[in-house]
Amino acid sequence: MLVESDIAIALGGGSEFFKLPLSDQAIHIIDNGNSLDQDDLAQHARVLGLFGEDGLDRRLSPPTQLKMTVTALDFLDSKTSNCPGFFLMSEGSQIDWAGHDNNVKYMLAEFADFDDSIAAAIEFAKQDKETLILVTADHATGGLVLQKPRGSSIRAQWTTTSHDLSPINIYAYGPGADSFSGLMDNTEIFQKIVEALDYKNIQKSNCK
Ligand SMILES: [Zn+2]
Repeated sequence: MLVESDIAIALGGGSEFFKLPLSDQAIHIIDNGNSLDQDDLAQHARVLGLFGEDGLDRRLSPPTQLKMTVTALDFLDSKTSNCPGFFLMSEGSQIDWAGHDNNVKYMLAEFADFDDSIAAAIEFAKQDKETLILVTADHATGGLVLQKPRGSSIRAQWTTTSHDLSPINIYAYGPGADSFSGLMDNTEIFQKIVEALDYKNIQKSNCK
């Protein structure tokens, strides 16, 4: 699906889920994080970076979410100078795994990288002035409750090893941000993104 789609750049793990080498020669594949610094990725029409067989393992020093986010922003920015723009999703996907493991240290490491990635995206949006940043989640995991018993430090209390049903937050920055306030169903987020893009009036153009 990803290979057959129009997605211009995808970076992460999961090489075991691809039939490599790809038959599509137009996709430039990288498997070494150093390539994100060394290669001129923008010379390629499409880039697929697979830095692990399954999920990325921080003990092996794979590229951080921050690094992949900044690389993708630069790549997409350079590809869309003559067309209406781009959509990028950057997921801190192992925040969920840390929740399933009920592992605070793991979760904090994942959150720190996610937080750095948000800061980089907001920095991009501040320069660009035409970018809407949305920060949200599809669900929470682990039912984490922070407690501060009298006379003791903050404690993390997990209530499940599954996904939980707590409402999740959405934060918005940039043009169209005002629509993302109040209580909403998660499926409304899609509609609001489409509205913010003024999707019907986007001119078809060649962004490649
Ligand atoms: Zn999960």
